[in-house]
Amino acid sequence: MDTELLPTVFLKPGEADRIVAGHPWIYHSSVQRLTRQVADGDLVQVKDSKQRWLGIGFYNAKSKINVRLVARERIEIDRAFFERRIRAALAVREKHLPEATSFRVVNAESDQLSGLIVDKYEDVLVLQTSALGMDQRKPMILATLEEIFSPRAIVERNELASRKFEGLPDANGVLRGDLRGPVDIQLNGLQFAVDLLAGHKTGLYLDQQANYQAVANQIALTPGAKVLDCFSFLGGFALHAARAGAAQVIGIDQSEEAVKAATLNAKTNGLQGKCAFESANVFDWLKAQTVTGPNEKLLPKFDAIILDPPSFTRNRASVPDALRGYKEIHLRALKLLKPGGTLATFCCSHHVDATLFQDVILEAAFDTRKLLRRVATCSQSPDHPVVPSIPETEYLKGFLFELTS
Ligand code: SAH
Repeated sequence: MDTELLPTVFLKPGEADRIVAGHPWIYHSSVQRLTRQVADGDLVQVKDSKQRWLGIGFYNAKSKINVRLVARERIEIDRAFFERRIRAALAVREKHLPEATSFRVVNAESDQLSGLIVDKYEDVLVLQTSALGMDQRKPMILATLEEIFSPRAIVERNELASRKFEGLPDANGVLRGDLRGPVDIQLNGLQFAVDLLAGHKTGLYLDQQANYQAVANQIALTPGAKVLDCFSFLGGFALHAARAGAAQVIGIDQSEEAVKAATLNAKTNGLQGKCAFESANVFDWLKAQTVTGPNEKLLPKFDAIILDPPSFTRNRASVPDALRGYKEIHLRALKLLKPGGTLATFCCSHHVDATLFQDVILEAAFDTRKLLRRVATCSQSPDHPVVPSIPETEYLKGFLFELTS
């Protein structure tokens, strides 16, 4: 199709710069006018207020994001387009995670494919389409994925809140091939059984893959360490810590299913003797560990504590509540950490940035009169690339601190 003939979305004056800088979202409030009627999901061309070309994208009047740009050149959005983009994304992963066999292949905006996520769990792919234009092109995307990866199965995990904003219903199931039971996947040489049809996110937290190893390397510096993994889920940090030389690892998660799965994962990796998982609310558990009677002194027990909670806030309005939550777990964790011990702490809320997150940790350190030495700063794994001109691509941050003795 000749892109010159596509209906045109003209932007209001002053709205083009962030698009030129790389952001693919065009909000309804930035649109001056549309030259003619477009069906939701169809392609449009986008121009600034002075008629300068910006790119082509998928239109959706139902969404606050009226257009998601997919290309800045005048090209066809066909199978060859998807193949180029997906192969380019794959090359980034092969470059930065050369050993990995399970990783995020396509991370939406990070890979110039707004609304598309593809995760590779060994020989199974998981697909998420969070935008209407992308969802409508699923057959083309599936054909491309089959060609590149020849997967055993492709699963759809489209139970996403964001799909509602696009007028899309929830969807979940096997789209191609056959999949029964959990998939055994490898992360840094450890094996995890993952339920791809029902697990968190698309199965597990691939974005922590590099950080599991970073935390393990830090824990290896203290052979025989006693480690606490809070919000342990399938045991990602716990198992890495145990393999790195910890003598004893306790994992806490409120989900009984997660505790069962983590226990099984420990066994599969021959680490059951070192790991114990317990189902409890981390807030209550930490509180119970830190209450002291009159004249009783709390004895710190752990050489390393990992805090990797779920996002405490999905929006800006609840940031203050979230900060109270982050402060609370840090206060308690600092009390339980031995001098010289390691605090590995993560925050996956986009609305709490690294500065704010560190500030809240420092408040907890102040209140407990502890002094922290920062030994590493973490981000999301490189298969979730951060594109700074698209701030939404950055959400996971973490720090490794040592408590000064
Ligand atoms: N560290 C994990 C990911 C944690 S995701 C990993 O690397 O895979 C967050 C986990 O916290 C989920 O498994 C969820 O069940 C658990 N969770 C959420 N709120 C909790 C709470 N208040 N207490 C204990 N666990 C909680």
